[in-house]
Amino acid sequence: TPDLKHIRQNPGLYKQNCVDRNYAPYAENGWRVLELHEQLVSQQRQAVELRQRNNVLAKELKKKAPGAGDGENRAGLLEEAKALKGQLAEFEARERKVQEEMESLALELPNLSSLHTPVGEEPAVLGHVNGDIPPAGRTAKSHVDIGRELDLLDFEASATTSGWGWYFLKNEAALLEQALIQYALSVALKRGWRVMTPPSLIYSHIASACGFMPRDQHGETQIYGIGQEAEAAKGTSLVLAGTAEIPFAGSQANKTLAESELPLKVIGPSRCYRAEAGARGVDTKGLYRVHEFTKVEMFAWTAPPASSSSDTEGFDTDDTQQQLQTEEVFDEMIAIQTEILTSLGLHARVLEMPTTDLGASATRKIDIEAFFPSRTSIDNGYGEVTSASICTDYQARRMNTKVKFERGDVRSAFVHTVNGTALAIPRILACLLENGWDERTGTVEVPRCLRKWMPGELERIGA
Ligand code: AMP
Repeated sequence: TPDLKHIRQNPGLYKQNCVDRNYAPYAENGWRVLELHEQLVSQQRQAVELRQRNNVLAKELKKKAPGAGDGENRAGLLEEAKALKGQLAEFEARERKVQEEMESLALELPNLSSLHTPVGEEPAVLGHVNGDIPPAGRTAKSHVDIGRELDLLDFEASATTSGWGWYFLKNEAALLEQALIQYALSVALKRGWRVMTPPSLIYSHIASACGFMPRDQHGETQIYGIGQEAEAAKGTSLVLAGTAEIPFAGSQANKTLAESELPLKVIGPSRCYRAEAGARGVDTKGLYRVHEFTKVEMFAWTAPPASSSSDTEGFDTDDTQQQLQTEEVFDEMIAIQTEILTSLGLHARVLEMPTTDLGASATRKIDIEAFFPSRTSIDNGYGEVTSASICTDYQARRMNTKVKFERGDVRSAFVHTVNGTALAIPRILACLLENGWDERTGTVEVPRCLRKWMPGELERIGA
C-alpha cells in the first residue's frame, strides 16, 4: 500500500524528489495520482446517486407485487432496475481500474529523501577511518597481480567456466573469506544481533517490493532470473538475490510485530548475484566488480515515530526528533562498519550519499569508501566497501510489515527498515591484499583480528 494520501497532499514534493533523484520518467506520477483521485471521487459521487435510485426502485417493486395490476408500470421499473445494475457494475469496474492505476503509479515513486541528504551528485564527507589521509608509501600493485604471484586468485579458470566477472579464490584467499565472515559476525553478535542465513533464490515480487525492480531507472536489467515463462506469468518466477536485504525484508512480509520485539536486528552471510549491466567500464579486471560474491549483511526492523499509523498520514520525514529507534540502529550499523574497517587496518572515508545515489527505497544512505593503492587514478584510490540505508516505511508498505503498539491511541503502523553491509568479501579481500603487500619480502600481512580464524594463526601470506 503506497501512502496515497500523502502523495495527493504533496504532489509537488514527490515531483521535486524524482527530479533530485534523476527519476525523470516518474516525476509526473504524483500529479497523475491527483488527477486519478479526482476521477475516482467524481465516479464515486455518481455511483452514490445510482445506488440511491436503485434502492428507491427496489422499494417500489416490492410494493407492486405481480398480479396487483399496473403490469405495464412494473415492467418499466424492472427494465430500469436491470439497466441500473449494469451501469453500477460498469462503475465499479472503472473504479477498481482507477484505483489500481493510482496505486501502481504511486508504487513507482521513490522514497522521499532525508534532510541529511545532499541534493545532487556530490556526497558529503562525514569523517575518516584510520587517519585523515591515505597511508603513504603503499606500492600501487594490483590485487590481481598479488593474487597471481601468491597463487590466491584465478581469473583464467573462471573465464573458462563462467566468463567475465567471475573468479576462483584459492588457498589463503579462500580461507580469508571464511575468516572475514567469522570476524564480521563476531562483531555484531557481541552487540546482541541475531544471526540468520537467507535463501539465495526469491520470488520476483519480493524483490520488487524491496525496491529492486527487474529493470533499473536506466532500463538496465540488474537481476538474474531463473524463472520459466509460465511461472513469470503467474507472478511466481524466481530471481537470484543481489543482496540478503531482499530475503531478510521478505521474511517478515504480511506480519505484524509486537512493539516489544523492535528493534529486531539480524546479520548473516549470503551469496549475492549481480548482472552489473552497463557498469563494467574500468572494473573489468579483478575482484572489484564481480557477478557473484559473499556479503555479510545487517538488516533491522524498527519502530516508526509514534505519530505514524497505517490509516493516518504516515511518516513525516522532516521529524528527525522522533525517528530515534531507526536512527539509533542506523548509527549502530555505521559503528559496526567502522569497527571492522578500523581493526582490519584499512584507511577509509565515510560519506553521506547524495539524492542521485539513493536508489528507490532509501531516505538516507551512508557509504564507506576504503583506499585501494592500485586505484589512485580513480577517485584518488577510494572505492565503496560498505553501504547503509534507512528505508523508513517504503519497504514495509510494500511488504505489509506492521507493528502493533502496546500503548497510545495509534494501534498499528508500518515498521521502518534499515540495512547495511557488515562486510562484502571481494573488495575487502582486494583491499587487504593491496594494503598489506610488502614489496621487499613479497608477502601480505594478515590483520591481527583475522588470525584466530586462519590455520596456524597465520601472520603473513607467502612467508
Ligand atoms: P550494495 O548492496 O550495492 O549497496 O553493495 C554493498 C557492498 O557490496 C558494496 O559496498 C560493495 O562492497 C559490495 N559490492 C556491490 N556490488 C559488488 C560487485 N559487483 N562486486 C563486488 N562487490 C560488490
